[in-house]
Parts: sequence; C-alpha cells; structure tokens
Amino acid sequence: MSELRQLPSVEQLLQTRQAAEDITAYGRPLTLEALRQTLAVVRQAFSEQDGLPGEQAILQQARDRLREWTAPSLYPVINATGVVLHTNLGRAPLSQAAIQAIQATSQGYSNLEYDLGKGQRGSRLLHAESLLTHLTGAEAALVVNNNAAALLLILSALASRKRAVISRTQLVEVGGGFRIPEVMAQSGARLVEIGATNRVHLSDYENALAEPTALVLRAHHSNFRIIGFTSEPGLAELVALAHRHGLPLVHDLGSGSLMDTARYGLSHEPTVQESIKAGVDLVCFSGDKLLGGPQAGIIVGRLDLVAKLRKHPLARAIRADKLCLAALSATLLHYLKDEADREIPVWRMISETPESLRARAARWAGELGEGEVIEGQSAFGGGSLPEENLPTFLLALDVAQPNRFLSRLRQASPPIVARIQDDRVVLDPRTVLPGEENALLIGLKTALSALRPEKKRLITGTL
Ligand SMILES: *Cc1c(COP(=O)(O)O)cnc(C)c1O
Repeated sequence: MSELRQLPSVEQLLQTRQAAEDITAYGRPLTLEALRQTLAVVRQAFSEQDGLPGEQAILQQARDRLREWTAPSLYPVINATGVVLHTNLGRAPLSQAAIQAIQATSQGYSNLEYDLGKGQRGSRLLHAESLLTHLTGAEAALVVNNNAAALLLILSALASRKRAVISRTQLVEVGGGFRIPEVMAQSGARLVEIGATNRVHLSDYENALAEPTALVLRAHHSNFRIIGFTSEPGLAELVALAHRHGLPLVHDLGSGSLMDTARYGLSHEPTVQESIKAGVDLVCFSGDKLLGGPQAGIIVGRLDLVAKLRKHPLARAIRADKLCLAALSATLLHYLKDEADREIPVWRMISETPESLRARAARWAGELGEGEVIEGQSAFGGGSLPEENLPTFLLALDVAQPNRFLSRLRQASPPIVARIQDDRVVLDPRTVLPGEENALLIGLKTALSALRPEKKRLITGTL
C-alpha cells in the first residue's frame, strides 16, 4: 500500500497548468471538488498489479468530471420524426419575433406590472389580453401557465363543492397523466358523469341539470376519436341548454387553433373563434399546441367569469411569467397581421407543400449519396387531429440495425430524433427547421460512416 503514497496531493495538482485552466473555466471550489473526488476514486480502485495512473491521467479524469457536472441537461434536438407538436421534444418552436421578444424582455427590466402612463403599478394581465379578445371575439382573456392549470383554475373558481357535468365521451387522458376527471376532483368540483362511452344525448344533460349545478364542461376529444355508433349534441345546442338553466358552458378546446386547418386540405379542427361565436362562456386552450407559441394556458370568454378567475388565489400561483407573455404577444401579432403561416414555425411546417418536402428529402439523399425518397405521413401530435396525417416525403435509409442507428443519431451533436418504418430509418423534412439542415447532414454522415468503416477505408485508400 506504500505505493499509494506516491499519489500527488490535491495541493500539488492545483499547482499544474491544467488545474489553473480548470479553475478559470469552472471556478476554484468545483475544481477542488473534482480533484478530491478523482483522487478518492483512484485510491479506492488501486490494485498492486495495475499500479497508479500518472499525474496527467488524474488531471484528465478530474476535467472529465468537471465537464460532466457542468454539461447542460436541456439542449436543442433536431426533430426528424415529422410529428409537428412533439410533446416530448418541447412542442412548438417559436417564431423569430417571439424569440426576439423574449430576449428584449429578459435582458433588462420591463413594464410587466407598471403603468407607464400613470407611473404606478399596472397589471401583467393586460399584455396579451387585448390581442386575445380582438382575435377571438371574446370579452375578456386571462393567461396562465398551461392549459391544465387553466382548467383547474376555472373549476376551482366556479365549481368547487358544486356539481360540474361532463359527458363520458369526453373523460380524456391527455398524456403525462393529465386526466380530465382527476383535474375535476382536484378542483373540489363534484364530477357528474353522463351518457355512455360512445353516446351522449341532450336529454342526458337535461336530466343532470335538474339538480343544482355550477357548470357544464365540454372537453375536446384531443388525442382520440370515437367512431362507429356515436352521438354528441352540437356545441350550439349545448350552449342553449346550459343558458336555459342559467349555467355557463366551459369548453376545454385543448389545442385551440385560431386558424382553420381546412385551409390546408385537412379536416376541420374546431377554432376558438367558433366556440366564442357559438356562445361558449369560457374557452381554454394551450399556447404551445396549434397556436404555435410558448407554453401557456389561455382562457377567453365572459368578462364577469374571467374577473372571478382573476380574483381566485390559484390565479396567482399559476400566473404566466414575463417571458411567456412576451412570446405569446409576439405570436398573436402574427395572427393579427395574417402572416401566421409564414412566420409561425408550426404553421409553416403544416402548410409546407409536398413538392417542397420532396425536394428537401431529395437534396439530403444527394448530399449523403444514399437513401431513397419515399412517400410518407407526418403527424400533428399534441392531441390535435389524431387521425389526420399530412402527406410528406421521407428520406429512407437502409441500415443493418435500424435501432442501433437511431441510437447513434441520438448521440449526435445536436442529437437527431428519427423513426423506423418498415425496418428502415426514415427522416421527415417537415419538422426539420431550415437552419438545422447542415447539422442534420453532418450527423447523418458521421453515423453512416461509423456504420460502414470499410467504405471509409476505401475512400482514404483511393486518396
Ligand atoms: C393538451 C390538452 C390539455 C392540457 O394542456 P397543457 O397546455 O399541456 O397543460 C388539456 N385539455 C385538452 C383537451 C388537451 O388537449
């Protein structure tokens, strides 16, 4: 064991040039910690026959630790899956204007809650609100952290310890464990389920409203469809019924599009404007689904109801932050200026033509010198238009072990997320942003050449 005494001390290691560089890059306390841990591990792993690592090796191990400890855990990823609103990959990428708004608002102070006209405290609730009311035709608007929180706030403020009626056709689990019935229970509302899984009639609602009730909730089917022997009353009928009983109708629209998806030859996803026009009292939807903005829960509807929501203590706990409000306002402005499909990435992706997608996939194949361009389908994701697929063109790569290849792509920098179809690795240009194409091609080339070392040898051999 006397050999262990040959190990350099932390003090000695700190004198080296490499340690000085580490201190500059990572700070002294962390460098010290890395050196101590490295020495401890070396001591523990010591065996007579392997001997001790040299000073340089120890310093390198310490540096590796520092790199690992300080590497960010959240970083950009290239989405080549073709799922536009990929919840696991952060849903909607923001427009340039929204990114600039975040930067401008975050690098200094802002008038977040300051009325510049009066020189006194203002309200953060004003920022996106007038845009929202203008675009949707609603009387009032409120922005909170996400749509799950929006629904929780609505039910807590309007239906706590009271009956809230919802159809069994709409008791959806959105994903990530968010279930409408559980949110209703959490709010303290008494869930009154009516109808059957596939069918609910106006008379079911009528019967349920015979007892004192706080509101009627309608939830967008979001990520599923009921097909076959089905029936649900129309929105207008339901509004009329709720209003006859003096009750508000709350509509959780989920994705909440402001644009008509039918413009792009797709089936029609209900819009927020339609709900307001039909007389819905409160509509809630996400900011980062089809709206194409930051994570947010947006509530629009009747002024008196929104005022009640604002006063509820939960509103303060789930309020939107200034970065969200800045990005949301910038995103909404694109709709106001009728430039959403040019400026908002989600809509640019949805509206990209098959010809353009085919040309991009063909260019990738050309650059790589392999792969085949095939027809395929992109998906919306984010619980929007679950059955609807967007015709696209894919780059298909024949590789021996598709799963291993996918895993290699995930280790690229930035990581590339692709998918497998019919035993081939496929990449969809639709969700790859133009600025990411070079990085994508470099990542693909590297992964392909790692698979085929014989090809690389051939190239170097001929040179
Ligand atoms: C997505 C969705 C939610 C949850 O929205 P988040 O913004 O993810 O919190 C709630 N209800 C429906 C119907 C949805 O589709």
